[in-house]
Amino acid sequence: MTILFASDLDRTLIYSKNSRGQEVSEQDFTAVEWVEEKATAFMTNKGLQLFKDISPSITFLPVTTRTAEQYNRITGLFHTVEKPKYAIVSNGAVILEDGKPLKEWSDKVIAQMQHNRTSIEDVLPQLDTYTKNKFVLKVMQAESWFVYLIIDEQAFSIEDFESLSQIFYQQGFTLSHQGRKVYIMPTCINKSTALQFVKERIAAKTVIAAGDSMLDFDMVLNADYGFIPSHGEAIHKGGHLPSHVSITNHAGVLAGEEILKKVSDYLL
Ligand SMILES: [Mg+2]
Repeated sequence: MTILFASDLDRTLIYSKNSRGQEVSEQDFTAVEWVEEKATAFMTNKGLQLFKDISPSITFLPVTTRTAEQYNRITGLFHTVEKPKYAIVSNGAVILEDGKPLKEWSDKVIAQMQHNRTSIEDVLPQLDTYTKNKFVLKVMQAESWFVYLIIDEQAFSIEDFESLSQIFYQQGFTLSHQGRKVYIMPTCINKSTALQFVKERIAAKTVIAAGDSMLDFDMVLNADYGFIPSHGEAIHKGGHLPSHVSITNHAGVLAGEEILKKVSDYLL
């Protein structure tokens, strides 16, 4: 019986220096990503060991908003564990199979974006109004898939986020605020639908999913068991969560370790 463990990476399993929290001392960290030889993402040593221990019993599926290139930088996760056959990158716009994008999948996403008028060319003119706004520092593009804003966190309020969310929601976008970034994501690019595709392709029976942000929420909700780190944006989705979804006790990098421990306990 195949158990699929579909997990977001950043701020769920792996953490930058800024997001990892203060409770863990330096020697208890292992770096898992490097940019120009500088360590940029970490797990606890214990978390990495748990990840290694559960690997033979589960099918691990990374599900990330990172592009394929950014995903491939996380080499530290796969030093002792085989790199997964599948990875969902660019928030679900791209599914990698043995490291190569599945064209049939991305073509479907492109057609849907064109139909919904949520391509980058559709969103950029609208953003012009907001780029003059005080909190927008930069408008960035993730390949040809979606746009995100680099914001001045001091000048950005919850009200700003809510008003942007409302405007773009009506036009077919989901917004997510993660630190200095605000993602403006076409609703047809989502982790949940891509995960369903992989689930069917490998005929997985059970899905355990974990993620911290609004971009993870549907994937976590639609899984058989779901985990949200207590620092996660997704816990503010409102209402109470169904019983198959739980919020970690810990925050920061320890939440990542806790999720891996819970997956490990599930396998016992
Ligand atoms: Mg995340």
